[in-house]
Amino acid sequence: MRKLRLNNGTEMPQMGFGVFQITDQKQCEESVLTALKTGCRMIDTAACYGNEKAVGNAVLKSGIAREDVFLVSKVWIQDAGYDRTIRSFEKTLENLQTDYLDLYLIHMPYGDYHGSWRAMEELYRDGRIKAIGVCNFEADRLVDLILSHEVMPAVNQIEMHPFCQQRKLRKVMEMYDIRTMAWAPFAEGRNGIFQNDTLAAVGSVYYKTSAQVILRWLIQEGIAVIPKSVHQERIEENFMVDDFHLADAEMEKIRDMDTRDTMILAIRSLDEVYRLHEIRFEQ
Ligand code: NAP
Repeated sequence: MRKLRLNNGTEMPQMGFGVFQITDQKQCEESVLTALKTGCRMIDTAACYGNEKAVGNAVLKSGIAREDVFLVSKVWIQDAGYDRTIRSFEKTLENLQTDYLDLYLIHMPYGDYHGSWRAMEELYRDGRIKAIGVCNFEADRLVDLILSHEVMPAVNQIEMHPFCQQRKLRKVMEMYDIRTMAWAPFAEGRNGIFQNDTLAAVGSVYYKTSAQVILRWLIQEGIAVIPKSVHQERIEENFMVDDFHLADAEMEKIRDMDTRDTMILAIRSLDEVYRLHEIRFEQ
């Protein structure tokens, strides 16, 4: 599987598997095991997904050496700030049954995330995290974070799919050599994405599904992807994207699908600030 080099030299698989909304522990464990058997070597979880333990169980059961699986988790708003982030990180390691993380991310640009970043810098310097980054940071907050601290974020995990291509933000990220990791590559199935005519027409040339075309397009854009599915046949389908190549004109057609707006998360809206601050859980 193809790897991307992060700005601190860490090598990260370009494709991984996301486990958001897989709340049933058994189903999560089975889905992650299926992904690992399919060849996937990166799992994206988060403290607030409530399934870090299931991910850890699956990695152990897979028999794959820990150093061959790239584990990503995130600190939630309720644990923003230096002390809480350290505590949440320790709990994440315990849940994942490991003694280090490959990538640790600030989940939302809310609360005392500068305090969180200081904690993450320390954990990174101590070798307990291989790379640190953020999610859902727009350009102004990202640059403010960069200018306020020493360690550069390696990754910004953001909503990205054909309807939301984040071009302005990606340009700023390129300036600082920060990698884009696309969450909701399928727009969580919204807006008829799997039935979209453009994607279906491109796919028909290669006998590939719309899902595979989207993933291939993101890969050729140089972006890391973490599609989620609880179905074995879809997981296998999603990882069969290395045997075809989109032509420039096809890449361009998909670029034309951009609405220049997000479809799932309006990070600046007051409603989201209230909604996301209300999400609390026992880790
Ligand atoms: P997604 O991957 O865009 O879409 C998942 C949906 O697509 C599920 O309903 C899945 O259904 C369906 N699906 C998957 N493969 C398919 C295929 N080949 N054909 C047809 N349908 C298919 O959405 P997501 O889970 O929100 O995003 C991916 C990952 O990004 C998450 O799991 C999480 O790790 C991460 N994420 C991060 C943030 C953040 O704020 N940092 C936010 C959201 C997500 P089935 O499961 O029923 O197959």
